[in-house]
Amino acid sequence: MTLKLWNTMANALEEFQPIQAGEARMYNCGPTVYSDPHIGNFRSFLMADLLRRALDQRGFKTVQIMNITDVGHLTTDDVADASGEDKLEKKAREEGLDPFEIARTYEDVFHENAEQLHLRKAHEYPRATDHIPEMIEMIGQLIERGHAYEVEGVGVYFRVHSFDQYGCLSGNTLDNLDSGSRIAVDERKESPHDFALWKIDEKHLMQWDSPWGRGFPGWHIECSAMSHKYLGGTFDLHTGGEDNIFPHHECEIAQSVGSGVGEFAKVWVHARHLLVDGEKMSKSKGNFFTINDLFEKGYQGFEIRYSLINSHYRQPMNFTLQGLEGDSKAIQRIRTLREKLEERATDSGDVSESLQQKLASAQDSFDACIDDDLNVSGALGVLHETVRALGREEPVGADAAAALEFLRHCDEILGVIFVGESSGGDDLSEEQQGWIDQREQARKDKDWALADQLRDRLLESGIQIEDGAGGTTWSRVR
Ligand SMILES: [Zn+2]
Repeated sequence: MTLKLWNTMANALEEFQPIQAGEARMYNCGPTVYSDPHIGNFRSFLMADLLRRALDQRGFKTVQIMNITDVGHLTTDDVADASGEDKLEKKAREEGLDPFEIARTYEDVFHENAEQLHLRKAHEYPRATDHIPEMIEMIGQLIERGHAYEVEGVGVYFRVHSFDQYGCLSGNTLDNLDSGSRIAVDERKESPHDFALWKIDEKHLMQWDSPWGRGFPGWHIECSAMSHKYLGGTFDLHTGGEDNIFPHHECEIAQSVGSGVGEFAKVWVHARHLLVDGEKMSKSKGNFFTINDLFEKGYQGFEIRYSLINSHYRQPMNFTLQGLEGDSKAIQRIRTLREKLEERATDSGDVSESLQQKLASAQDSFDACIDDDLNVSGALGVLHETVRALGREEPVGADAAAALEFLRHCDEILGVIFVGESSGGDDLSEEQQGWIDQREQARKDKDWALADQLRDRLLESGIQIEDGAGGTTWSRVR
């Protein structure tokens, strides 16, 4: 099995060749934790999960790092030096909460959704706010090497004209940017394309001390600092959504390579965007779905997962509720076959030769599709065809066991056949369960203030508490 991936940097399909034989070190740009993750976010995280599973199955010792952006992500993020309002702080103000509380709440929702959609756990989920010293150190290195400059009272900027490779990933070279520029000229910057590494803004709610004054990091520096800390200066794979290519990933390259820590990521894998009913997803159009919205509609984690992974990650995906309905029937068919096979399987006897051959050839085809740039739709074609044949043949005994083995092999990548049921309505996070237990105790102790406080905390996290004659029940409010 030789895995080939489309490398955005090379703009070509390449055989994956790790830096260290047998190892695969991967960085995924993770969630910005200021609201419930939507299906577009998870399309990108699921692509990273498929890649992780393909690497694991091919025997690589995989190290996967996914960051949690809990500071400094701004509303106009399609230009290198994002401006506008901080999304996290906006949400904090709307909900009357501390931005840290907002971040932790939605970080929990992200982890909960990731578990419900059966993503393998990354090895670390570093938070931006836990790595301010690392960012400050990298900014210092960039200043020392002439790639960054301080503007007093304003902050520190990356000097894009000092970095020849700028534009290498996105094609947005400085020449190209100059011709299409729509960035307002800021007199304090040497070039309009220079982007902030450190910002000083008294109004910002999250602030840290730095050699350049109290402030907060620019949007891109966290990924350079944290990938360096957990994976080193040069590593194998970097993933994100296609909207990350510019400016975010272009700026990451400039910072990491510019600071001299290494060559940064070798292979860049980007998931195409997701449309809903053929249009860009937006709250105002009413075609905006969070993962929790779909749970509320009664779908299971494996159904949502199946629907979000079954088209090729480099094709734009068009999500519709009708499509999800069809997908859920498709995956249920496979799970029904699994159940039948489990009833009929025995571990004694020999597998018939014809079935063995059929399964081996199906498995080869399945693997070849995954090797071909994670072609999940092709792999599912092979799987469904085999499932139909097995449904007709109704294997028993050792044959049924061999068929189950085949399904298990496919599910190491897909994660939808053998996983348990999970829906937003059924599980509470450990933390939420803890609050409910504490509240129960508080009510017994007649500590009404604490009970009310815990009720509010649960409500903030999306759980409504009802005290009735039969005891306390809960329901999900979003
Ligand atoms: Zn990133």
